[in-house]
Amino acid sequence: MKQLQTIITIFLVTTSLAAWGADPVPDYPAEKLSEHVWVIHGPTELPNPGNKGFMNNPAFVITGAGVAVIDPGSTLETGRMVLRQIRRVTQQPVTHVFASHIHGDHWLGNQAIREDYPAARFYAHPAMIEQANAGEAESWVKIMDQLTEGASKGTEAVIPDQPLTDGQEIKVGDLTFRVYLTDWAHTRTDAMIEVVEDSLLATGDNVLYQRIGRMDDGSFRGNLAACEQAHGLQLQHYIPGHGPSGGPEVIKPFCNYLQVLYEKVAELYEQGLSDFEMKDTVVESLSAFQDWSGFKDEIGKHISLALLEVEQAEFE
Ligand SMILES: [Zn+2]
Repeated sequence: MKQLQTIITIFLVTTSLAAWGADPVPDYPAEKLSEHVWVIHGPTELPNPGNKGFMNNPAFVITGAGVAVIDPGSTLETGRMVLRQIRRVTQQPVTHVFASHIHGDHWLGNQAIREDYPAARFYAHPAMIEQANAGEAESWVKIMDQLTEGASKGTEAVIPDQPLTDGQEIKVGDLTFRVYLTDWAHTRTDAMIEVVEDSLLATGDNVLYQRIGRMDDGSFRGNLAACEQAHGLQLQHYIPGHGPSGGPEVIKPFCNYLQVLYEKVAELYEQGLSDFEMKDTVVESLSAFQDWSGFKDEIGKHISLALLEVEQAEFE
């Protein structure tokens, strides 16, 4: 009898190990921002084993005819965590999912939504869909796996297949989702989504707050234009790609960051300085941002990238 119990125990342990994937992402609270929109503010550190990859601001919009999700996060387990928070508020199904851009920390959570709501439609900038299918999706799955040391295990890319157009308005229930596309801002794949009736904009990484992120795929001037476009709408609520949500005051600082950095680099370039020589002066002019997460990691590269852009601008 004892032996049988041991065999059963071993069997149960092995089967549950076989079914074991990544650990769940712990629950992060969803905060209500406006009548229909909730946001889950993720950590602002880069994906790591501690945050299990979760670092963005997934938002959900309860429309009366289904739930729309904007940027369901970085991994299968992040997407599942987002669904748990949605179900605390509504039992409506998820019907629409928007990806703000190609970076995997924003949209690899799609998989969890496809799993539970196979009829949901997945939207993105046409260039996002193109890049994802051309190999970016697979690289992001790998990047996430490496950065989290396996906490994203089991994550597969569910690539959007509904291309958005600039100015498009998508009606879901009583609500209108207005789409703002740019050619080249944070990336070449950015979509900002306005929930018109709630006077709210989800900016994706075209706007960051209290976090400085990668500009490797971006254009300083293009990103500044997108940031100013977002600010110019003067809406009541903004959800940045990373960092706390709020009114227009959470938009302005990043526009300033991009503008000061680019202009300072251009000015010092005219004086004949190299990126290395101008670093201290540029950093000083950006002292307001030194406490932002990621500033120290990114600033050197931002200066080099801005310098390249300044040089190229001379030939335009
Ligand atoms: Zn990004």
